[in-house]
Amino acid sequence: MDLILRGGNLPDGRTGMDIGIADGRIAAVEAQLAAKGRREINVAGRLVSPPFVDAHFHMDATLSYGLPRINRSGTLLEGIALWGELKPHLTAEAIVERALSYCDWAVARGLLAIRSHVDICDDRLLAVEALLAVREKVRDHLDLQLVAFPQDGYFRSPNAVDNLARALDMGVDVVGGIPHFERTMADGAASVSALCEIAAARGLRVDMHCDETDDPLSRHVETLAAETRRLGLQGRVTGSHLTSMHSMDNYYVSKLIPLMAEAGLSVVANPLVNIVIQGRHDTYPKRRGMTRVPELMAAGLTVAFGQDCCMDPWYPLGSAEMLDVAHMGLHVAMMTGSDAMRACFDAVTTNAARVMGLEGYGIAPGCHADLVVLQAANPVEAIRLRATRLHVLRRGRIIAHTPPTAAKLDLPGRPKAIDFLRAPDDA
Ligand SMILES: [Zn+2]
Repeated sequence: MDLILRGGNLPDGRTGMDIGIADGRIAAVEAQLAAKGRREINVAGRLVSPPFVDAHFHMDATLSYGLPRINRSGTLLEGIALWGELKPHLTAEAIVERALSYCDWAVARGLLAIRSHVDICDDRLLAVEALLAVREKVRDHLDLQLVAFPQDGYFRSPNAVDNLARALDMGVDVVGGIPHFERTMADGAASVSALCEIAAARGLRVDMHCDETDDPLSRHVETLAAETRRLGLQGRVTGSHLTSMHSMDNYYVSKLIPLMAEAGLSVVANPLVNIVIQGRHDTYPKRRGMTRVPELMAAGLTVAFGQDCCMDPWYPLGSAEMLDVAHMGLHVAMMTGSDAMRACFDAVTTNAARVMGLEGYGIAPGCHADLVVLQAANPVEAIRLRATRLHVLRRGRIIAHTPPTAAKLDLPGRPKAIDFLRAPDDA
């Protein structure tokens, strides 16, 4: 074996497990593995997880906060307008530089797979060119998957139909859309059909910004489910945001969720952004505006949490910390039951990997040796502490390392350094 991690805890609850790694893949997962490793790391009592995965991000806009000015209202529409002001001034070099900085942050946090939407409405397709270059540059460190995203509307923006086809020809991986931003409900539905047909013809996946509004009558997810089924795209289509579902009539939702399950739709909620962007037209009470996460999970759909934005025209905060995303999602969805909290960890790891269709993801023999060792005993503690990433492995190689955080209080008769914020029983 090239490397053995000894005595780790796994997200499924197994403890004291050794993970043997050879040629960049996991060769063994068992208690007291007899083999010897050329290098061995004691991870006893630490959570060893497959890497964090962000199934919904905008890397073309990231780290542009304040350019050319700050979003004063904090609303989605001012954000879209601001992005429109910034677009003509973008250069490919600046987009690449910001994206690479973000990838540094991501790797340090054990975030090793990102699905990023890329706006195709600028005829120069600068952002597409830039992020395709970034995808190649970072290939050994993380998986970047790109979605051709018509931010200003597939039919509403003058050249989006041509630009989206050009972006896919250039090598963008996934077909995007934004039906609720088209001029009419009918145009929105037509855009869903047209975009799903493109994906079917090209053998691609679909991920649409869908019903990102508080309007309960925004029902494009219904069309997305129907078109998925009509075109045989089951398991390849994701509805992102789906915030209108929060405000929909319960009777209608009781019909809708089974239709979504039948179509094998995946869902990505974006709790950090949904909680500050939705409900903006409300007085009090203000709606939360995140989609119905626990109900969708209970119906068997794959539900992931995405970060969506990090220091861009729509969101001034963020730091590639998927445990912040899980923490916010857990609170907004009121998922404080023990199984529900575990499910929130899955939403930023295994579920998100399934949304992206990642191959060789997980902790089992044959999987890629992509792993994160956390300063926490289990997934719930990892969320609670936003735990330090002690080691981040990619294909069996350690690519990031952070020393453990320790408490500083030094009193006679007490241990000098204990793990940061661990309950005494956990020590
Ligand atoms: Zn988005």
